[in-house]
Amino acid sequence: MAIDPKAADKLSKGWYKERLSAQDCKYLLEFADRSSEANLAVSLAGRLHHQACAGTGQISAEIETVTGPCPGNCGFCRHAECRTMESFTEIDDGALAKLAQGLGLFSDVRSIRLTSCAYADIDTVCRHVGIVKDNAKRGTRIYVNTGDLGSDDCRLLKASGAYGAIHAPRLGEGKDTEIPLEKRLETISNLVKSGLEVITGVEPIGPEHSTEDIVDNFFLTLNMGCASCEITPREPVPGTKFNQYGKLSQSRYNQIRAVLTLGSSWYNAPHRVPYAGMYVTGGNVVVPKCTVSNYKERIEAARRRLFNGGYDRILKVDDSTSELNMMYLRKTGSV
Ligand code: SF4
Repeated sequence: MAIDPKAADKLSKGWYKERLSAQDCKYLLEFADRSSEANLAVSLAGRLHHQACAGTGQISAEIETVTGPCPGNCGFCRHAECRTMESFTEIDDGALAKLAQGLGLFSDVRSIRLTSCAYADIDTVCRHVGIVKDNAKRGTRIYVNTGDLGSDDCRLLKASGAYGAIHAPRLGEGKDTEIPLEKRLETISNLVKSGLEVITGVEPIGPEHSTEDIVDNFFLTLNMGCASCEITPREPVPGTKFNQYGKLSQSRYNQIRAVLTLGSSWYNAPHRVPYAGMYVTGGNVVVPKCTVSNYKERIEAARRRLFNGGYDRILKVDDSTSELNMMYLRKTGSV
């Protein structure tokens, strides 16, 4: 079947890194997720990604440091205090140190993300950053994913050794969460001004979200000085009002990520680091959730995922790369 000519024009502009408007992205997302237009978008975005990261994948390990009933009360989150029965937990300092050391074994966990609930205080977050910095392989980039932060908090984070932060205005912010949208944007601005590299996002996307919801949310932060943007589907959580909608299909997710990749291909984000790929993060970054008991298997699976995804090099902590082949997988115990 012939490709819609208007869609072909817009996809071509995205491929050649010409500017696409929010309206252009909305137009492209109105096509069904398995249509010829969607398939072409996915193919073009995939090629742009592979070119931009030179076929190099990277692993970013995520560690939950502080969890428990969270006053953020986001309507889609299993930690919201209005519905969870879980207790407060904070990772043990010794366990965090051991985990950080273990992740450095083959120097191919390029970054570590420390995730904490909104109630975690800044001193605790900074202490965790310090522990990881002292124990991880030298050069490992440390990111934090926290609640909202003032400018002083951001400076403290930077001084403690954090390289960057993950922060996004979520879909339905202020309506499905108890956090005003302005507060989330203000935090991003504070993080950027303090010199931290910011990974923003469009999240958590469910099947019920309209193209307007998704594209408008993406364009909110596109010019805020963030280094990259991650597109994340919502995980169904029993007991939430969103559970009835289920999960976004993989094909719709691929289409959304591809269109936003093409829609921002013109954008030169600050803080771009070697082999980072496009502004919208693609399959080149794998983010395994790690604990002391599972991290070996999770990192091994992450290496295999990059290999299976066609990445033939892997980024190391010092920004060099290694060939990602069967020999590497065997050497690292990943097969
Ligand atoms: S702020 Fe984060 S941890 Fe807290 S309820 Fe919202 S999504 Fe969950």
